[in-house]
Amino acid sequence: MVRISVVRMRPVAAIALICGASYIPTPTLRADSPVDGERAMQYLRQLCRFGPRPTGSPSMHRQRKWLVAHFEQLGAQVHRQEFQIRHPLTGAPVTVVNLIAVFHPKRADRILLAAHYDTRPFPDQERDPRRRRGVFVGANDGASGVALLCELAHHLPAYGGPYGVDIVLFDAEEFVFGTNRDQYFVGADYFARDYASQVQTVRYRAGILLDMVGDADLQIYQEKYSVQYAPTIVKDLWKIAAELKIREFRARVRHEVRDDHLPLNRIARIPTVDLIDFDYPRPGVRRSYWHTQLDTPDKCSADSLETVGRVVWTWLNRLR
Ligand SMILES: [Zn+2]
Repeated sequence: MVRISVVRMRPVAAIALICGASYIPTPTLRADSPVDGERAMQYLRQLCRFGPRPTGSPSMHRQRKWLVAHFEQLGAQVHRQEFQIRHPLTGAPVTVVNLIAVFHPKRADRILLAAHYDTRPFPDQERDPRRRRGVFVGANDGASGVALLCELAHHLPAYGGPYGVDIVLFDAEEFVFGTNRDQYFVGADYFARDYASQVQTVRYRAGILLDMVGDADLQIYQEKYSVQYAPTIVKDLWKIAAELKIREFRARVRHEVRDDHLPLNRIARIPTVDLIDFDYPRPGVRRSYWHTQLDTPDKCSADSLETVGRVVWTWLNRLR
């Protein structure tokens, strides 16, 4: 994703964060949700063991096989949405594959839960230019959202709400070698155009995009475009978080992030929220792990994945 700007923080909030005194870890309350953070964390580690997973790479291929088997084993119908693009550097054809894992296929009204499963080809935010061609495994930026969806999939067959649920994994979110030149959101854009162009027998009522939800030092602020396009979902998610006493969900806007939710909102017209912790590790810290070789599983935690999972699961179960 691309961060556009930080929305200016109010002084009182900034003071609380600088003191650090306001941060109290959320106790694990398993009674309200079956989401297992430890298992989600195991999935995150597993995905990173495939290595860097850029679009079209052998490790992306291995990851995809593993994911298809995972969702099928849990009872989903898995569809591949496949198309070709040109490699931004060489011009060679590259196959892009979105994965769609369908739960409760007979329910016409559906919910979309999404994440991108490609990783950026290189850690381009390294300060040292010599390291900008290093190894990037994208533990938080890539694996975390996918891992949490792998965990949520365990519980979807028993989901008794009125909606079907599709887990959609987007490819080529950032198959980007030149930041100002190459196209972002290639997979999500294709998905959104395909959905918008068809006579819709399936209707997505709402969507949640999970990106960078594994940071061990979790703070999820409301994202500006999400508030603009899907205000009701934002309101509901943060209301649930407040009820569950989840302090990691901060009820104000901080970042404006261009991400896969933009084509979903603008082209497919599916109201979709981006749940993203763009402060990695925390607000005010200059050294970010984002798009660096430091984005590794040890910077993520089972607690954070479980926290986000509880909010999403509770939201799903309250939908009417
Ligand atoms: Zn990224």
